[in-house]
Amino acid sequence: MRFKNHVVNQILDAYKPMWSLNHAISLMGWDFETYMPTKGTEERGVADSQLQMLHKDLLLNKDFVGLVESAKKLEGLGDLEKGIVRVLDREITKQIKIPRELTQAESLERIRGNMAWRKAREKSDYMMYVSHLKKMIEIKKKIAEKIGYEKHPYDALLDSFEEGLTVADLDKVFGGLTPRIQKILKKLVDSGSPFCEESKLGKPKYDIQRVDELNHDILALLHYDMKRFRLDVSTHPFTERMGLNDVRITTRYEGTDFKKSISSTIHEAGHALYDLQCDKSLSVTPLEGGSSLALHESQSRFWENIVGRSLPFVQLIAPLIRKQVNFANHATDDELYLYFNNVKADYIRVDADEVTYNLHIALRYEIEKKIFGDELNISEIPEFWNDRMEHLLGVRPTRDSQGVLQDTHWSSGLFGYFPTYSLGNLISAIIASKMHKDLEDYEEDVKRGNFKPIREWLRLKIHQHGSVYAPKALLNNSLNEGYNPDYFVTYIETKYLGS
Ligand code: MG
Repeated sequence: MRFKNHVVNQILDAYKPMWSLNHAISLMGWDFETYMPTKGTEERGVADSQLQMLHKDLLLNKDFVGLVESAKKLEGLGDLEKGIVRVLDREITKQIKIPRELTQAESLERIRGNMAWRKAREKSDYMMYVSHLKKMIEIKKKIAEKIGYEKHPYDALLDSFEEGLTVADLDKVFGGLTPRIQKILKKLVDSGSPFCEESKLGKPKYDIQRVDELNHDILALLHYDMKRFRLDVSTHPFTERMGLNDVRITTRYEGTDFKKSISSTIHEAGHALYDLQCDKSLSVTPLEGGSSLALHESQSRFWENIVGRSLPFVQLIAPLIRKQVNFANHATDDELYLYFNNVKADYIRVDADEVTYNLHIALRYEIEKKIFGDELNISEIPEFWNDRMEHLLGVRPTRDSQGVLQDTHWSSGLFGYFPTYSLGNLISAIIASKMHKDLEDYEEDVKRGNFKPIREWLRLKIHQHGSVYAPKALLNNSLNEGYNPDYFVTYIETKYLGS
């Protein structure tokens, strides 16, 4: 892509080696999670950190920083050009503000802390991990101070995952979301809703090879182009973009509860579509990725939940399920629908249904906010976690592995990340509401497997823009909304309570 402005063109030329390093780092990351022999870990660690350092050196190279600085002063730039400057300036500013010692301390603690967390989780013993958590929080507090913030130290960390996101935004989001979802959950449980009845379909062992075929069948139904995309297997499913024409996802096969594998596949495929439908002109530029983590998660959640767990979609894939999952061969469409949408207040976030999921995030948000506001002692976290979980979901963990030790995020320094999951859910409901108004035949189309209008709607409103616009701007421009929880609450009420 060439622009009118020659400074921007110079920036893009100088960016190419950085893009290439990212390309290699992504490919190595994908390989690490999928096919690398286990003993290769340490050497891969060396190669990865060396490439990251090279990338940082190129980014902070005086000439490059000078180019970006002079581009910031230019007038009359187009949206794409402004986007390039904004994205790079954000990256440079953050890297300059955080001293090398802190970056190194964090990456070292990430490895040590993660190892300690794994062992502690296995033994379900918070005390085995607490000193590492403490250290990581100290590092993150220092980083927050270096980055700077206006009101709350946690804002600095939130912004690094979701541009412009603040505690004030999230207080409003969860204030409007949490009590209403709790009420819906209570109604469902008290009324003995069929959604709360456990399905028999989750129990028996499935044939992994045939569910793998099933996943490929579903991806074919969703029109994925296997020349630009692939599906592999890993313990924790993820999406990795090497470039706009090589986007890879993984799924998981645990052997029982086949809906988890299908949902993971559709979730990651939703992430991939965001990248695959980015405008081709943004290839090999800093604008390739999506606008933000929340926007990305809105795409995966839209396909996983709003499409993937809807009745018309379940009806569409029901014949495929009956063919590949032998113990489901007499299941009716309604039984499958209830199986996919089973609601249960439980301990573990990653297994949560769409009704209870955000309550898990509300809990983590509350704790992180308190940690960085110096309102919660680190030794008190497990007790606080259990109290709040009992309040929010009505279940109290009896072991640390069911509570505070369940997620890997904190051990990897990911404070401020969790809220983007909830924002993704909220945005997916905003998208669905707006889309239904534009696409009259939406339900019929899903039932018939005609996903073109949906894909095209998403491409025009969201995907084509890559990260040209910051998340709040994109939401405003394309959906005329902000992080508004009302759409999600209405969606859940309508679907589960029929009101
Ligand atoms: Mg995701």
